[in-house]
Amino acid sequence: MQTDSSAPDPYEISGEVIAAGTRQNIAIPVSQSVSGLSANLALQVIHGKQRGPCIFVSGAIHGDEIIGTAVIQRLTALLHPETLSGTVILAPAVNIYGFVQHSRYLPDRRDLNRSFPGNPGGSLASQLAYCFLENVIDRCSLGIDIHTAAIHRYNLPQIRVASGSPYLIELAMAFGAPIIIESPLRPGSMRALAADRETPMLLLEAGEALRFDRHSIAIGAAGVLRVLAHIGMIAADDGLSHIGIPLRANRSLWVRAPRGGVSRRRHRSGDIVHRGDVLAQVGGLFGEDLMDVLSPLDGIIIGHTTLPVVNQGDALFHVAEVANFENAGKQAGSIIEAISVSAPPFPAEPLLDEDEVH
Ligand SMILES: [Zn+2]
Repeated sequence: MQTDSSAPDPYEISGEVIAAGTRQNIAIPVSQSVSGLSANLALQVIHGKQRGPCIFVSGAIHGDEIIGTAVIQRLTALLHPETLSGTVILAPAVNIYGFVQHSRYLPDRRDLNRSFPGNPGGSLASQLAYCFLENVIDRCSLGIDIHTAAIHRYNLPQIRVASGSPYLIELAMAFGAPIIIESPLRPGSMRALAADRETPMLLLEAGEALRFDRHSIAIGAAGVLRVLAHIGMIAADDGLSHIGIPLRANRSLWVRAPRGGVSRRRHRSGDIVHRGDVLAQVGGLFGEDLMDVLSPLDGIIIGHTTLPVVNQGDALFHVAEVANFENAGKQAGSIIEAISVSAPPFPAEPLLDEDEVH
């Protein structure tokens, strides 16, 4: 009988056999594209020399949200199978169709992140969702999925988790992003499916669509490594020797342009703001008739538009309501204490993307 100290068995996936202590790139056929060529789900499997859990890191579920691709490229250089306990599956461009087209969606105009669990005989989105479910999610005990804001928008690096799970808050604290946001899960999303299958998932939102930015990439790569350290897959600092009380929020508002024209931003993502603060001013083509854009609440800006030319009603800022500013960053005696002290006092609300707000 094997014990935990023995070498792990080879890892088998899609007809490939990967020995412990090695890595391999895998291309799993999803469907035939217009050109007649096969479209593949590209994975790198890093199969550790020691036993441990299997986790995945995914990027570009929305094909134009490419920060995850950069984070995963960095992780391939930083993770070594000889020193890894367990298995890491890296999926740098899950929606390869949208990735090639610079589009959030699939060619059938569906949103992959609303298409889970999928069906091998269904639409293109449904086939791809099912392929990812079967080959990745169902093999893993933890997933980290990486997204960005839409085009012309920037998101402060933030970890989003399903509401009501202290374990997910603990993992999010290990990740170390500037703020943790909890929200109910959306039907059809990868996180909702993973929750149904009891696979905990963290979602990193960071940066802007179709852009790489060093800050988001650095936070993403460091955060994944800290989570791996926290669950014992690599020997590294999980950052929790000093347990700081995290900044947490579970509801947010979009602040919109009061008129059309040209916007001058006074604040940006990461700024702490108070009700009535002037976030921006919007005026006419000559800078005349400026109107103030005010913060509706006490909170932190978690996203902003990067495009100053605005129509009346365009979303300029995404502000998360925060109730524990005075405690944030202070030392806590334990993770349990840090989680309970930082819990938002409000009921969690669904967190909507700007294009879903009417
Ligand atoms: Zn996304």
